[in-house]
Amino acid sequence: MISYGSIMNEDDYLSISGLSHLIFCERRFALVHIEQIWVDNQYTAEGSILHERVHSNSAESRRNVRYAFGLSLISRRLGLIGKADTVEFRRTDNSKNISGNNVAIQLSGVQGLWQPLIVEYKSGSPKIGDSNIVQLCAQAICLEEMLNVNIDQGAIFYGKIRKRLNVEFDENLRKKTEHYAERLHTVFRFGKTVPPLKNDKRCKKCSLYPLCMPDVLKDNIEDYLYRSLSKD
Ligand code: SF4
Repeated sequence: MISYGSIMNEDDYLSISGLSHLIFCERRFALVHIEQIWVDNQYTAEGSILHERVHSNSAESRRNVRYAFGLSLISRRLGLIGKADTVEFRRTDNSKNISGNNVAIQLSGVQGLWQPLIVEYKSGSPKIGDSNIVQLCAQAICLEEMLNVNIDQGAIFYGKIRKRLNVEFDENLRKKTEHYAERLHTVFRFGKTVPPLKNDKRCKKCSLYPLCMPDVLKDNIEDYLYRSLSKD
């Protein structure tokens, strides 16, 4: 995996949120992040309201947990930036995990060791596929880099089922996340919007459906590809 930070300006870092668009549909990612088009539907509007509500909280502390909301994130290795909905710092006695990696940090002005755990809020229910967990893992990789600590797991709170589910950041998920981060930069650098999905059920839930026009464009994919290739 390329360390993107070593080859690009920070202005070229891409948003972590782009990962979930990309995994859902590469055309959606291109429409939002290359063409800067956005349309809300019920699902995206509910998600935005929930995120705004979480980010507007101020820092909170309890005896054994401290909360940071809307924390800015960056990974020079993956060339990504973003925000964590919530980072919980939990008091711990262990500075290392069973593999001997650092898992805890010191917080300024507070005694003891604190283990970070990222919590992402989603208004819907758990999705089939990798988009939510890859997004969370990318946030964790950013925070690991920023704090020089190992983060073994995070959590996603799903509003529709009102449950918080844990996510393990194992090797497999980390590799997938690196793969998608690399793909994100490749598609962005390509700079062209790819053709729509063909008769795909994802389109019915996609807020960009009216602008993307997958039903109109689907018959012309071969023409589109031919035209794109001829330009190069
Ligand atoms: S409408 Fe379908 S093809 Fe178009 S961006 Fe959405 S998911 Fe992708």
